[in-house]
Amino acid sequence: MKKQSIWQEISMSTFPRLSESKQSEVAVIGAGITGITTAYLLAKQGLQVILIDRDKLAGKTTGHTTAKITIQHGDIYHKLIQDFGVETASQYKDSQLEAFASICDIIQTNQIQCSFREEDSFLFTDTTENVPKLEKEYEAYQQLGLDGELLPSIPFDIPVLQALKLRKQANFHPIAYLNYLIEQLKAMNVEIYENTLAIDIEEGENPVIQTADGRVTCQHAVIATHFPMYDPLKMFSIKTYPSRSYVTAFESQQPYPGGMYLSIDDEMKLSLRSITVDNKEYWLFGGESYKTGQYAKETSPYDELTKYAMDHLQAKEPAYQWSAQDYIPPDHIPYIGRAKEDYPNIYLATAFRKWGMTNSMVAAKLITDLILKHDSPYEDLYKPNRFHANPDLKQLTKNGANVAKEFIQGKIQVNDESIDDLKPGQAKKIRDDNGQIIGVYRDDQHQLHGVDTTCTHLGCEVNWNQSETCWDCPCHGSRYDIDGNVLEGPAIRNLTKKEM
Ligand SMILES: Cc1cc2nc3c(=O)[nH]c(=O)nc-3n(C[C@H](O)[C@H](O)[C@H](O)COP(=O)(O)OP(=O)(O)OC[C@H]3O[C@@H](n4cnc5c(N)ncnc54)[C@H](O)[C@@H]3O)c2cc1C
Repeated sequence: MKKQSIWQEISMSTFPRLSESKQSEVAVIGAGITGITTAYLLAKQGLQVILIDRDKLAGKTTGHTTAKITIQHGDIYHKLIQDFGVETASQYKDSQLEAFASICDIIQTNQIQCSFREEDSFLFTDTTENVPKLEKEYEAYQQLGLDGELLPSIPFDIPVLQALKLRKQANFHPIAYLNYLIEQLKAMNVEIYENTLAIDIEEGENPVIQTADGRVTCQHAVIATHFPMYDPLKMFSIKTYPSRSYVTAFESQQPYPGGMYLSIDDEMKLSLRSITVDNKEYWLFGGESYKTGQYAKETSPYDELTKYAMDHLQAKEPAYQWSAQDYIPPDHIPYIGRAKEDYPNIYLATAFRKWGMTNSMVAAKLITDLILKHDSPYEDLYKPNRFHANPDLKQLTKNGANVAKEFIQGKIQVNDESIDDLKPGQAKKIRDDNGQIIGVYRDDQHQLHGVDTTCTHLGCEVNWNQSETCWDCPCHGSRYDIDGNVLEGPAIRNLTKKEM
């Protein structure tokens, strides 16, 4: 079993680190699917673009997605109608349909070999209280002209009370697709730099991006760093929260019946699709979603998924296991557009709610329109600084209370001073002689790795993640390895290492 995503079997081009200062019309920070797609659309329009990433291209959430290309974003449409009316829900649908069509067009026009497959998409529930939600969602489909159908079951041996089908959605191999875009970026002379951390942005007529070894001066800066690395008002720390999910890929003793599936029930949030790689049909089975750094069960999320797959899906042993996180907005709609009214040349895209395949294309198109035409039909819908009393306030209060709880609990909960009982492969938090909290991990060679557990983003205490051997911040999703190096999330600096 490989502890990596199935997509990472395909290699990607590598690029140098930025080592001198540069100038460009547009600088795109972050090279996941959002940054790569935005750079591609802008370069196609003839703009000079620099693309930088703190790590490798598409190595974070994009490299760990399940890559369903669908506008069926959970049971979102009846919620949008309920909160904002049919017109707003319809705008959301239109923007997603246009994005879906753009992805299909790029793939078909250029004959990209990326395992693209048209498939129906299904939501399902096993709980009586969620059946009315699917019925309302079906009514919303009818209001919005979406081709849906309510069904009593799905073709798996899992308990289901009702399902909702949306026809003609799709899926693909995201890295095979992005490799084509990257080759096009090279052909269009886009400069690409990896291992180049953007530390800060100087606002102004020509924003300046500070990196460790050089500055990039540009006319337009696009922040596609997942959680925005530029958040002067600390807005996204309150508005969004990180949700982590686990995925396992396995062969089954039965053939995959086709389709893409997602449970709307809180328990496990199961997701299914398949992909054929080297003539083997793998089932991609995801779920066990929880707030990053706050997994509450004693068991491993991978074990939970594997047990379920063995019991219900005739799974053979898992072939791949991986996990990833995405940011969740309070009103179901991502934040895309100008970061601040007074600096209209800094743009961002975040909080895709685990629906980043179409949303990254929505972002790329919207930001390209803002740069070239100064407006977009979807500018107001996705505006980053929007605020709706309902439902934002409720969710913001919940987010704020959760962060405060984690912040305070993290500071007071540790009373242990000994690591004598720490077994290889385990970690714990202790207090040192000064009362400071230290996270200690004992590796398989019995060597100890110590870190100051104060997250360098906004000061919460990180928690140990046993199934992935790392320290995760329960507040805003920064994650660190056993030696405190940043793995992902908003943190710029590593945790302080402690000699043990
Ligand atoms: C488990 C899971 C399954 C999913 N499945 C689906 C699905 O089936 N369909 C769907 O539509 N969506 C899905 N999603 C959502 C989708 O994968 C994401 O929304 C999308 O990949 C986000 O892409 P991104 O480019 O915005 O972020 P990322 O891929 O995280 O890219 C951001 C990049 O920015 C870089 N970066 C960060 N900070 C800096 C900095 N300071 N300086 C320079 N670079 C920086 C990072 O290194 C990274 O490469 C899923 C998400 C999860 C978690």
